[in-house]
Amino acid sequence: MKWRCQVCGYTHDGDQAPERCPKCGAPRDKFVQIDVDAANLIERSRMGNGLLCRLISASEELLGLAEAGIRDNLDPTCVQLYKQLTARATELRQAAKAEIAAHMSKGKWG
Ligand SMILES: [Zn+2]
Repeated sequence: MKWRCQVCGYTHDGDQAPERCPKCGAPRDKFVQIDVDAANLIERSRMGNGLLCRLISASEELLGLAEAGIRDNLDPTCVQLYKQLTARATELRQAAKAEIAAHMSKGKWG
């Protein structure tokens, strides 16, 4: 069975809800049982959103690389390449953030 804290959204697996929410300290009566489909959606979302967070970090890493490459200024074609990288990594980061925001508005954020 799955239980969800109505105060903070923490989810708990077990035969009954915990005595106190480990996240926010709310008592057991603040927990409601959630159906398995909703619980699966939360699990799925957590994984998908985790991947998006990694995509954001990866984009930020690429932006750092691009900045270093532009600063290095070895030759004009290199700088051109790093400028393209800046533009694409910025786009990716924006897209990943927008996707996370869309998930949150659809309740796919546990
Ligand atoms: Zn809680």
